[in-house]
Amino acid sequence: MARTSTEDLKSPVSIWREQDVIDGRKVDAFVAILRTRGCWWSWQKGCTMCGYNAASSRAVTPEHLRAQLQKAVQRYQGEPMVKLYTSGSFLDPEEVPLALRAEILSSFGTAERVLFESRPEFITSTNLDGIDPRSAVAIGLETANGEYLRRCVRKGFTVSDYAKAAEMLLERKIPLRTYLLLKPPYLSERAAVEDAIASIGFAGRFSESVSINPVNVQRDTVVDALWRRGNYRPPWLWSLVEVLRQGKTVTSARIMSSPSGGGTPRGVHNCDRCDRKILDAVLRFSFDQDLDGLEGMECGCRQEWTAVMDLQDAMGTAVDVARYLSDELEFE
Ligand code: SF4
Ligand SMILES: [Zn+2]
Repeated sequence: MARTSTEDLKSPVSIWREQDVIDGRKVDAFVAILRTRGCWWSWQKGCTMCGYNAASSRAVTPEHLRAQLQKAVQRYQGEPMVKLYTSGSFLDPEEVPLALRAEILSSFGTAERVLFESRPEFITSTNLDGIDPRSAVAIGLETANGEYLRRCVRKGFTVSDYAKAAEMLLERKIPLRTYLLLKPPYLSERAAVEDAIASIGFAGRFSESVSINPVNVQRDTVVDALWRRGNYRPPWLWSLVEVLRQGKTVTSARIMSSPSGGGTPRGVHNCDRCDRKILDAVLRFSFDQDLDGLEGMECGCRQEWTAVMDLQDAMGTAVDVARYLSDELEFE
């Protein structure tokens, strides 16, 4: 891992503004990624698609975190929603010391809601007792299929660990956002679509919102190694549209997707002609939940997508068949 300078240790990884939703209202959101020791699991085996620990450092001290907080607060402009990410678990006391947790959450005085992420093992009564009432939690369940979670994502927790944590949040009326991964490695395109829809049905029972995260191939991950060899293709945007369309019918939770790397070879993509149009439609849907906006999008590559699904099924493979069959294998 690259060394992190002292100045970096005192600065958030990044800060930006975007929009999100609170109780059906579109609101401005302030997003800060704080640099911590990072996710403990990423230092053990780590999830197959996760390269987040590149932004973490074991040298971060509580003083560094305090300095990062100060810089974040200076740039905060009173947005109703604040999202504090740590590339790990905000509720892990090794990442964010207990003594700092309340200070961080209360620093954004005018926010109505403060969203942070946590693995389920840190969602305990001890950790939730007395927590800022504006808190909302995001858990990356990725898939509700236990076998896929263990073998394809290598998540390091089980579906029932998630359900237990989610129920605790429900009891305490702490809003939950569940992240689902579209197309974990080793799944064919069709299996990935079916898995995401089934997972929405499961996670929707506990969640206020379900965010579909299509895989974005991050460097130095298992998925990266597969992708470089042509053994993995990030999901098609057609698959994402299908998941949103069908997923909406199996849950009353808000479904959203804001794909990172969308329209690039490492991210969810179709073809150059339709990527932008479809990504825009996905973004609109994430706010208005209107399925009509996802209808009637056509492009020649749609036939290619259906052919790939059939071909993978016929061949019994999850590899990027189009890339294997083409003369040019392009690797970054
Ligand atoms: S739990 Fe989250 S942060 Fe940790 S390794 Fe998995 S995806 Fe990365
Ligand atoms: Zn297209």
